[in-house]
Amino acid sequence: MDKKYQPIIGMEIHVQLKTKSGMFCGCKNDPDAKEPNINTCPVCLGLPGALPVANKKAIEWTIKLGLALGCKINLVSKFDRKHYFYPDLPKGYQISQYDLPFCYEGKIETSYGPIRITRVHLEEDTGKLIHQKVNGRDVSLIDFNRSGTPLVEIVSEPEIYSSAQAKEYAKKIRQIIRYLDISNCDMEKGGMRLEANISLQSQKLEVKSPASTAKRGEQNLNLKIKNRELPNYKVELKNINSFRFLERGIEFEIKRQKEILEAGKTPAQETRGYNSEKDITFTQRTKEDAADYRYFPDPDLPPIRISNEWMKEIKKDFPESLDNLFSKWQKKYNLNQSSAELLFETAQEGQWLDKLFEKANEQKLAVNKLVNILIHKKIKTVLFKDSPDKIIEEYIKITAVDDISDEDLKIIINKVLKSNSSAVADYKSCKKQVINFLAGKILREARKKIEFKKLEALIVSELNYFSFH
Ligand SMILES: [Zn+2]
Repeated sequence: MDKKYQPIIGMEIHVQLKTKSGMFCGCKNDPDAKEPNINTCPVCLGLPGALPVANKKAIEWTIKLGLALGCKINLVSKFDRKHYFYPDLPKGYQISQYDLPFCYEGKIETSYGPIRITRVHLEEDTGKLIHQKVNGRDVSLIDFNRSGTPLVEIVSEPEIYSSAQAKEYAKKIRQIIRYLDISNCDMEKGGMRLEANISLQSQKLEVKSPASTAKRGEQNLNLKIKNRELPNYKVELKNINSFRFLERGIEFEIKRQKEILEAGKTPAQETRGYNSEKDITFTQRTKEDAADYRYFPDPDLPPIRISNEWMKEIKKDFPESLDNLFSKWQKKYNLNQSSAELLFETAQEGQWLDKLFEKANEQKLAVNKLVNILIHKKIKTVLFKDSPDKIIEEYIKITAVDDISDEDLKIIINKVLKSNSSAVADYKSCKKQVINFLAGKILREARKKIEFKKLEALIVSELNYFSFH
């Protein structure tokens, strides 16, 4: 870490929600459809007179995300028009949220410290410009399939202090969103887009008068940050589509800005892009042409009131938080988070694993060893589709290594036969497939690796002599 300059980074993350239909129209929400301009209607094409209707699911998912990020929820919210002129926006404005976002004042933890979330709001995505050569001419084509896709924006406070922390923060946001199962966050296709505002603070600036700090309370992070003097410029690094590029781009910016500051100048306030081939950032737009968005409430969309009933409905199937799940597994099974998170994404999958671990634990199996085997895909059963029992059975087969004598095995076989009278009866009435069922029970009981042919032969011979008397 540079002693003289402290990087100050805030992030804006855009995520496309995977609702069935668009944000304000009934078009199929398929921004990556192969054929251009097929999922369009007067609303998302911005034709005069077309009336938008807000997508209820998109609103509910945004609130869910806000809750998962520890946000407060605005019970009265509204949509606003954000004006700018660009060919990907036929209306001349984007429907977004200005002063009353659905969610505000959240927080998430990173290993470097907490990062506060300023707001989470909902808007519509724009069309997509495609620049290519047609008949030897450079042209820009427009595809409106993406226009009107629900887009959530998550804005953080400028409380990120390194490229590594920015990466961890962005990854955690993606993990939470996937857990809620509201977006694929496919970064290559633009389903999740990262933006970082970066500036360097000279460490001298941070020294405040000790009296004022003491008075307001050193412990109070909120006040401390609020009173902190931020640098008088910031560089927006836009449209980053990978965590690695985010880290590289921020690193490059820190170096570039430091050189400018060292020369006694101030870096220009501008928007920059990242070129991954050259591993550099480059100017996209300077402050001179920064837009004045002239926000005002969209008169076509009534304000949104979240009633108690609606909130109850939203919270009804709200899953156990990821942090809870991980710390529970750590405590109960000594399972570390970095292993566990390789196995699943959604809350539903998390619950399924929770059941699997419970069952394994009941049978006194080491959950962390089971997880290891699942990570390395040594088990052929399909996670989340096959039953936890089946996975445990296979796990036992794989991990049992000790040999067992025929005599010991016969004792176990007889014990299992005694407690499975209906299976024995099935066998006697010529239902030979019960052998597999019994073999599974015996393997679980024996906890040893047994050659199946040998086991099968022994079961058959024991069954032939077996009687309940
Ligand atoms: Zn439409």
